[in-house]
Amino acid sequence: MRAFACPVCRSFVAFEAHRCDTCRTAVGLHLPTRSMVAVDESGSTIDGVQWIRCTQNTTLGCNWLTEAEQSEFVRGRCLADSLIRREPAADDTLAREKLVPTARALRRLVYQLAELGLPIEPYWRSDGGLAFDLLSSYTTGEKVIIGHAGGVITIDVVESLDVYRETLRVRLGEPYRTMLGHFRHEVGHYYQHILVETGSGAARYLDDCRTLFGDERISYSGEIARHYATGAPADWAESYISEYATMHPWEDFAECFAHYLHITDTIETSREAGLVLHADRVRFAAPHDIAPLESYADGPVERLLFDWHWLSLLFNRVNTAMGKNPLYPFDIPPAVTSKLGFVHRVVRDAGKD
Ligand SMILES: [Zn+2]
Ligand SMILES: [Zn+2]
Repeated sequence: MRAFACPVCRSFVAFEAHRCDTCRTAVGLHLPTRSMVAVDESGSTIDGVQWIRCTQNTTLGCNWLTEAEQSEFVRGRCLADSLIRREPAADDTLAREKLVPTARALRRLVYQLAELGLPIEPYWRSDGGLAFDLLSSYTTGEKVIIGHAGGVITIDVVESLDVYRETLRVRLGEPYRTMLGHFRHEVGHYYQHILVETGSGAARYLDDCRTLFGDERISYSGEIARHYATGAPADWAESYISEYATMHPWEDFAECFAHYLHITDTIETSREAGLVLHADRVRFAAPHDIAPLESYADGPVERLLFDWHWLSLLFNRVNTAMGKNPLYPFDIPPAVTSKLGFVHRVVRDAGKD
């Protein structure tokens, strides 16, 4: 994530901030320029265009701006919040409370997708476009299954409750489970569908995709049943990033896609902080300084994963220094490097198109 600066005093301003902590200037996020701009009651004029605050600025704590002229198409919402197709009813206070951190994770996701140049085609503009149903399995009695189908991503807002999510994480034996992680995984299914399996991408990618991840035409329900009956194969860590990824080729791709977003965002955050690991000052065998790049698009995925190897070793120790679990409790075997290389290629091509 970018380290935003206050437009007035240049102090650091957090991604979610509504005003600068230092000089109290009211700010809003302007997505096209990836910057925080000063706003007053009427919003802000940027390059001759009027931008106003997203209508979810009080209800969902949103600090994004939306183009005044376009606002009727998006119900007065910013791009990220406009993608929310279904949400808990206004009188469902408990669920609405959980919607706030859920929408916050969604905005982080959408920001990163825009930063990577991935297409964001909203459901309100095209059939099969991207939509989010953010529902609560607690309050409506409706079964909410996290997943993706035809552009629609369903998320259970109850997962934003620490006790609920942690209980599930422990029961499922997962090393990592977060709301942002769910979004990154599910959107991986969406991008595999639109960029790899359909349209012009099919001819370009589908054969390579099947070679690396397996044939996705194998029965999904059959594979799920197999996974829950016998679990992951004993040697899964040699070819997969997680046990969940062993379930079906689609899950393998989505897990790798999520990890690609984890890795690129965390490296970007480090770079934006000016972090450099000096090889001559650490007691490890880093062959040269690790200075995160502004873009890894021009290089092979190995370059990205090399920097990530050294940075994640540091972040894991930082977390354990605070008595927490390692930040990135995963190993990336060569087979997963190849899979991440495929994701790297698809994302990079999408950013160039
Ligand atoms: Zn300021
Ligand atoms: Zn918004």
